[in-house]
Amino acid sequence: MYDNLKHSDFGEIFKDLFLFPFILQVGSLNACFFAKRDFVVEVFESREDIRKAKIVKGRSINLALSHRGRQALKHVGIEEKIVSKGIPMHARMIHSLLGKQSPIPYGKKGQVRLLLTYPNTKLNFDHKLLDWSEETGLMTFARSDGSTEQIKADLIVGCDGAFSATRKQFLRRRLFNYSQTYIPHGYMELTMPPINGEFAMKPNYLHIWPRNTFMMIALPNLDKTFTCTLFMPFEDFEKITTGDGVIQFFQKYFPDTIPLIGIDALKRDYLHLPAQAMVSVKCSPYHIGNKCVLMGDAAHAVVPFYGQGMNAGFEDCIVFDELMDQFSEDFSAVLPEYTRVRVPDDHAISDLAMYNYVEMRAHVNSRWFLFRKHVDNFLHFLMPKTIIPLYTMITFSRTRYHEAVKQWHWQNKVRPFEKNIFSLNSLIFFSYIRFSF
Ligand SMILES: Cc1cc2nc3c(=O)[nH]c(=O)nc-3n(C[C@H](O)[C@H](O)[C@H](O)COP(=O)(O)OP(=O)(O)OC[C@H]3O[C@@H](n4cnc5c(N)ncnc54)[C@H](O)[C@@H]3O)c2cc1C
Repeated sequence: MYDNLKHSDFGEIFKDLFLFPFILQVGSLNACFFAKRDFVVEVFESREDIRKAKIVKGRSINLALSHRGRQALKHVGIEEKIVSKGIPMHARMIHSLLGKQSPIPYGKKGQVRLLLTYPNTKLNFDHKLLDWSEETGLMTFARSDGSTEQIKADLIVGCDGAFSATRKQFLRRRLFNYSQTYIPHGYMELTMPPINGEFAMKPNYLHIWPRNTFMMIALPNLDKTFTCTLFMPFEDFEKITTGDGVIQFFQKYFPDTIPLIGIDALKRDYLHLPAQAMVSVKCSPYHIGNKCVLMGDAAHAVVPFYGQGMNAGFEDCIVFDELMDQFSEDFSAVLPEYTRVRVPDDHAISDLAMYNYVEMRAHVNSRWFLFRKHVDNFLHFLMPKTIIPLYTMITFSRTRYHEAVKQWHWQNKVRPFEKNIFSLNSLIFFSYIRFSF
């Protein structure tokens, strides 16, 4: 949330952003965009300041930053600084039940996805938004000492996540469309420590253990640990209630990880916290008059199976910035246009992420599916401008999300010959697995 009543300079905001970009996410990046335009920006965060906290509690999520996110960072001149703090990922590494590892590169040579470490911990600026007034722009914040504070803003930018308090005001209005969907899978994070001070597995890969109805992934951290994330139906998580149950489960499905995580750590981490829910939120419009606009997960929380939630949120910032140029910073023109332009794209990536969630579980082991992915890549090689794999358009370009989906549907229509090729597919045993992380 930004208050443009006071003055601040870009240098200060820039420094702050660099310190905690992985915590405030879309809000902190947005602050840079506004500050770069010489707006006076104030950021309000409900949580504790991580730089002052003695003990940092909470979870850490590793986020893959791809083209859209990088472009947004570049816009405010911090791409290289942020990227240098990430770990490049060149390929996926698929782990079979028997522990065999098969690398699968990400698309074209030269395309590298970068991983940012995001300590999802309680950064406390101690201003929790309770409510705001659309008439006056007055925001009411709760402080940890029980007091409340009111602050007025000319423009409120709600980047307060999937359960946005800013959005509550929208829900009271006529013609505001809103939907939220929880998926039946949850996720749980487990830590794989370094071995002799080195990564326990090859670091520049997204490690994946696909197991049909569930899967585990592992992403490297700068401290040489891996964060392993287990995605599984809640009902399966709930069946495992004892340490022995955890080990039996891992022996059956992820045996190669047991010595790397360690038996005691595995039991402890698994039983420590319940699995977390994943929600998809869609809404429209994203703005109220010229007073308030939603961005990031507050506008469009997506399930994480396309690795695009943060990237889409970062791209929101560029799109808004481009409209600020187009409409000479006139909020009464920029905000409605932002809704008009951005809603179809965010809804498209939300649908794609949900589609991928189903696709990964239902088709990942289907030979037809795997074969088609190879055909896609081959056709792309032959006709790089005409046939572009959906994943490439989403992850390695700034093609508008809804246009990428349109193009994908068109490509599916113009490839009927694949059905004939499909008859050969029983001869082909590809080990290609198409994950979008
Ligand atoms: C398991 C998992 C893996 C993911 N992997 C990826 C990935 O690889 N790539 C990717 O692009 N995306 C990924 N995502 C999605 C990504 O995490 C989100 O899209 C991104 O964090 C959204 O950023 P945001 O700033 O909009 O919201 P948030 O990160 O939720 O930040 C919102 C901020 O607002 C603060 N806040 C909340 N309420 C209030 C209030 N009332 N008052 C004041 N402050 C408040 C919060 O404390 C928080 O700091 C993943 C998500 C999950 C769950």
